Amino acid sequence: MFSVAIDGPAGSGKSTIAKLLAKELNISYIDTGSMYRALAYKAAISDIDLENDLEIEELLKNTELSMDKEKIFIDGKDVSGLIRSEKISNLASKISKNKEVRKFLVDYQRKISKEKSVVMEGRDITTVVLPHANYKFFLDASVEERANRRYKQLLEKYGSADLEQVKEDLIKRDEADRTRENSPLKIADDAVVIDTSKESLDQTLARIIKIIRG
Ligand code: C5P
Repeated sequence: MFSVAIDGPAGSGKSTIAKLLAKELNISYIDTGSMYRALAYKAAISDIDLENDLEIEELLKNTELSMDKEKIFIDGKDVSGLIRSEKISNLASKISKNKEVRKFLVDYQRKISKEKSVVMEGRDITTVVLPHANYKFFLDASVEERANRRYKQLLEKYGSADLEQVKEDLIKRDEADRTRENSPLKIADDAVVIDTSKESLDQTLARIIKIIRG
């Protein structure tokens, strides 16, 4: 199967780019962050202690995750609209440190990529999930730009947001994602690095399409 792997920190534009790219290539878009978010959501409503490995193992044993286009289901329930808050972003970052959680989701992500061609985005796709992807990109942008984008998204979705708080959360989450022991966010040696703060998302997309189509 054909695969494009995209990694980058929060607000780097990877979701928007990956979605448009998948459409352009007529293949599936897979947002792996939504999987960590969905598990974090279930852990939160089940009152699970994210520091307790046994409770997390139990959660994984009793959880069924599935995706349909851009929707994500946990135990058959569509949670797509419930997982985009700052609270869930921070809990997703916490739960993603857990080794068993990563194994559970990486296995699922690899299974998907064996069944169909994908544009898959996340934090460890180029390094761990699909190190042999046909194309690998690492998207980045300045903290200001990323915080601004995230702020606008939250404002649109929830009607209010606090830019300073968003920036603080984003810096903390990135730091945690980059320094964790298991599969930290890092640039793969053979990934094409693109700074999306210097150009529009359309320009970045055009650049990526050019690289892929040659
Ligand atoms: O991409 P998104 O911001 O939705 O991801 C939420 C969190 O899930 C990230 O901050 C990160 O901790 C975790 N994540 C991960 N590995 C991935 C995708 C997301 O650890 N492949």
